[in-house]
Amino acid sequence: MSNLDLRPDEARCGGLADVAGTPVRELLTPRLVPLGESTVVRRLLPNLGRRMVGAWCFVDHYGPDDIADEPGMQVPPHPHMGLQTVSWLHDGEVLHRDSLGSLQTVRPRELGLMTSGRAISHSEESPRPHAALLHGAQLWVALPDEHRNVEPAFEHHPDLPVLSGGGGLRATVILGEVDGAASPGTTYTPLVGADIALAAGADTRLPVEPDFEYAVLTMSGQAEVDGVRLDPGSMLYLGCGRRELPLRADTDSALMLLGGVPFEEQIVMWWNFIGRSHEDIRQARDEWTTGSRFGEVHGYDGTRLAAPELPPGPLRPRGRVR
Ligand code: MN
Repeated sequence: MSNLDLRPDEARCGGLADVAGTPVRELLTPRLVPLGESTVVRRLLPNLGRRMVGAWCFVDHYGPDDIADEPGMQVPPHPHMGLQTVSWLHDGEVLHRDSLGSLQTVRPRELGLMTSGRAISHSEESPRPHAALLHGAQLWVALPDEHRNVEPAFEHHPDLPVLSGGGGLRATVILGEVDGAASPGTTYTPLVGADIALAAGADTRLPVEPDFEYAVLTMSGQAEVDGVRLDPGSMLYLGCGRRELPLRADTDSALMLLGGVPFEEQIVMWWNFIGRSHEDIRQARDEWTTGSRFGEVHGYDGTRLAAPELPPGPLRPRGRVR
C-alpha cells in the first residue's frame, strides 16, 4: 500500500531515546487516513510520540469493509526505498504487481513480503472478481543502513509455521521466530511479526524475548493484553524486558504481535521512502518523477501515483511527528 497523504510530513524516526527499556502499557489510538475514494484506514504507526517498534515503522489496519459492489483496493504504481512491505490479510485478496515483473495474488494468512532495497515500484489492487470482505494490515519494516541498498525482491510465502499453544492460542509466524518456529521470510534486523488467534475463553502466556520491544495490534474481537482490554484497530505498546506476555479473550479474537530489537539508527521517512537524510529523500522523489530509477509496473489499469510536493522547510524536529 502507499502513503496517499497529499501533504506527507517528513519524520525522523529511530534511535533509542523513545524506547521503553522496561515493560509499559501505552495505548496508541489510530489516526484515520483516507485511502482513495471509499476506504479509510487506521494508521497506528507512526503515531504521536511513538514512531517505531523494533524495525516496524508503518502500520495501517483496514477493514473489514464490504467491497462486494465496489472496486476495493486500488493503489496505483508507486515507489519504495529503504524498507520492506508486509501485506497481511484476514479477509479478501490483494493482487500485487511490481517492477521486477512479479504478479501475485496474496490471500489470507499468506505473507507477501517486498524488499524495496534501493528502488522498486509496485501496485496493489483487489482482483476482479473479488471476495465481499476486505480486512488486513499493511506494514513496513525499515532496512538497516548496511542493507538498505540491497537488490529489490518479492517473496510470497503461502505456508507459514503455525504454533498451537495451550490455552486457546494459535500463532502464525509472519516474520522472525516464535517459540522455535521460524518464518521463511527474509529479515535484516532481529524482529518478529506474528498473527495470534485467541479462542473465546483463552487465557494464556506467550513466550517473548526480553531484548525486544513489542506492540500488539488488535485485528478483531475483544482481547486483553497484559490486562489491558483492546478494541479492534487499536495498538498497545509494551516496551522491552518481558519474557512472557499474558493474553486473554472473551470472544474469538485476532491480534498481531510486532516486535524487534530497538532500531538504533535514525531514519528519515517521507511519503513512501526511507532514507538517512533529506537529500536521500529529495533525490528519490526526483528520480520517481523523472522515471529514472524505480522501474515500471506493467498491467495496472491506470496511471502511476505522482509524488507529492516536498515540505518547504528542512526536517521537522523530533517530537513532532505530524
Ligand atoms: Mn506500497
